Amino acid sequence: MSKKHKKMLARILLSALFLAAALLLNTEGYWRLAAYLVPYLIIGWDVLWRAVRNILHGQVFDENFLMALATAGAFATGEYPEAVAVMLFYQVGELFQSYAVGRSRQSIASLMDIRPDYANLEQNGELIKTDPDEISVGQTIVVKAGEKIPLDGVVLEGASNIDTAALTGESLPRAVQPGDDVISGCINQNGLLRVRVTKAFGESTVSKILDLVENSSSKKAKAENFISKFARYYTPAVVLSAVLLAVLPPLVLGGAWGEWLHRALIFLVISCPCALVISVPLSFFGGIGGASRQGILVKGGNYLESLAQAEIVVFDKTGTLTKGVFNVTAIHPGHISEAKLLELAALAESYSDHPISRSLKEAYGPTPDTSRVSDVEELSGHGVRVKIDGDAVCVGNDKLMEEIGVKWHPCHHVGTTVHVAVNGDYAGHIVISDEEKPDAKKAVAALKALGVKKTVMLTGDSRAVGESVGARLGLDEVDAELLPAGKVERVEQLLAQKSKNGKLVFVGDGINDAPVLSRSDIGIAMGAMGSDAAIEAADIVLMDDQPSKIASAIRISQKTRRIVYQNIVFALAVKLLVLVLGALGYANMWEAVFADVGVSVLAILNAMRALKSPPANQPQNPDTP
Ligand code: ADP
Ligand code: MG
Repeated sequence: MSKKHKKMLARILLSALFLAAALLLNTEGYWRLAAYLVPYLIIGWDVLWRAVRNILHGQVFDENFLMALATAGAFATGEYPEAVAVMLFYQVGELFQSYAVGRSRQSIASLMDIRPDYANLEQNGELIKTDPDEISVGQTIVVKAGEKIPLDGVVLEGASNIDTAALTGESLPRAVQPGDDVISGCINQNGLLRVRVTKAFGESTVSKILDLVENSSSKKAKAENFISKFARYYTPAVVLSAVLLAVLPPLVLGGAWGEWLHRALIFLVISCPCALVISVPLSFFGGIGGASRQGILVKGGNYLESLAQAEIVVFDKTGTLTKGVFNVTAIHPGHISEAKLLELAALAESYSDHPISRSLKEAYGPTPDTSRVSDVEELSGHGVRVKIDGDAVCVGNDKLMEEIGVKWHPCHHVGTTVHVAVNGDYAGHIVISDEEKPDAKKAVAALKALGVKKTVMLTGDSRAVGESVGARLGLDEVDAELLPAGKVERVEQLLAQKSKNGKLVFVGDGINDAPVLSRSDIGIAMGAMGSDAAIEAADIVLMDDQPSKIASAIRISQKTRRIVYQNIVFALAVKLLVLVLGALGYANMWEAVFADVGVSVLAILNAMRALKSPPANQPQNPDTP
C-alpha cells in the first residue's frame, strides 16, 4: 500500500469511529448535526472541494458533484447518518479502485522489472558502479552472476546462461559466449561476462520497452472512449432526472415534497458511474500487463481490443515463418573457384543486415575485409550492388540479374538462388535454404482455431520456395517474388477483401517491412530483442520470434474484451435495476450505497482477471471448459 492509500485508510477508520460515536451519543438538535458533520468532513472534504473547484472551472457534472449533492441533500432532509455513510462507502470504493490500479501498474512494473540500477564500468582495471545513463558506447562493463545486464552489448569475455524471461516469457535460459550479443534487461545467471557496450542507455532495448509500456495507456481502446463519452452525457442526464423526480410527482400527483426529494437523492447516489469508468480501462491495462508477461508488448488498448477481430493474418516469410538462417546447399561457380565465389558474395554482403547476408557471411567464415568494399547499394527485394577492389559486383536474385542484363543460369537445386555477377559477367550462383520455425505450422493451425478466416504468406523469395513452405505450413495463400512495394499493394488488396469489422494483421520481422507494418490494421513485429526498427514500426511487438505467440496475443485480446463487455453489461444492468427501485421508493439510501460500492468492487475484481493470461497452446480438453 502506498502512503496515499494509508492516509486514506486512516481517514476512513477515523471517520467510521466518529460516526459510531455520533450514533452512540444520540444527541439532539444542533449537537446532533455537529456530531455527524465531524465524520462527514473528515471523510468528504476532498470530494466537496473537488466538486466546488470543478463548478468554478465550468465542469459541473462529475461523480464528485453527484456525491456532494446527494450527501448535502441528505443532511438537508435530516438523514445525517446516511449522509456520512454514503460518503464513507464512496471513499472505500475509491480506495479500492486506486489500490487495484496501483496493483496492476505494479505488476506490470515488476513483470517488466528490467530497469537496471547500475552498471559495473571497467576503468583502468577497476570496477566502478555507475549509472547506466552515464556509460557511452564502446566502454566495457562487467556483469556478475545474478546481475541484470544494464546495457545492450557484445560479450568480450566469459560464457554464461542468460535468463530472458522478463523480456520474452521464455523460461529456458540462453547460452552466450564471446562474440554474442546480449540484451539489457536480461539476467546473467552464472558466469562472469565482460561486455562492450553497443548502445547508449536511452537507445537500449530496456529503455525502448519501458517507454512503450509507459505510453501504452495513452492509446485508448474504443470501449474506453465510449465510456468517457458515456459519462459525459450520463451524469447531466442523471441530475436532470433526479430534479424531475423531486419536482414533478409532487406538482402533478400532489405527492409529499420531502418523500420525493428523498427519492431523488437516493437516485443520485445510485447513479454514480464509477464502476464502469474505472473497470474498463483497468481491464485493458490488465490485458496489456498479462501480455507483457509472455513477452508480448502491446502499444495500446486500441490494438489489444481490435486484435480479437483478426480476420486475415498476413505473414512475411523470411525470419517470420522461417528461421532466417540459411544453410548453403550448393555453390556453382562459373570460371572461378568455389571459395572465390563465396568470398565475393560475403564481401559484397558485408554491410547488409539481411538474413541472406548474415548467412552468407557465416558460411564464409572470417570477417570480410571491408576495406576492399566501396560504393555499397542495397537494393531491397533484389540484392546488393558494390565495388570490390574496384570491380562492380552484383549479388542477388534473378530479378537483379535481369535488371543489369546479365545472363544467369537457373539451378536444379530447390532453394533460394543467389547469383553473383562481376563487371557484367556471370560468375555463378550459391544456393541456400532456410528452415521453417518449429512452431510455425502449429501457429497457423492455432490462428484458424481462434477464428482467423485467411492466412497469407508474402515473400520476395522465388515462387518454388514460397509455395513449398506455404503448403507445408498449411497457409491459404502464397504470393512470391514480391518487391516491398508489391507487398504493400497486396496488403491493400487484402484490406479491401475483409469484412467491415474484421482486421488485417501483418506479421513481419521488422527488417524492410516497415511500410506494410504501418499499412495494416495491426502490425506485429517479432524477434524484437535488440531490433529497434521493429519496436518502432509495429503496434504489437513479440520479444522472441515464435509465431505461436500471435495466437497467444489473440487469446489475451479475446479474454480482455469478454471481461470488458461483462463489466459494462453487469454494471449497467444493476444500476438500472436499482435506479428503478429507487425511483419507485423500494430502495433506501443504504441499499443505494451498497449497490454502488458493490458493483464497483465486483467490476474491479473482474477486471483484474485480465492480468492473468490464458494459458498458451491450451489443448482442447472437453473435461475442462
Ligand atoms: P522476404 O519477403 O523473404 O523477407 P526480401 O524482400 O527481404 O524477402 O527479399 C526478397 C529476395 O530478394 C530474397 O529472396 C533474395 O533473393 C533477394 N535479396 C534481398 N536482399 C538480398 C541480399 N542482401 N543479398 C542477396 N539477395 C537478396
Ligand atoms: Mg523480410
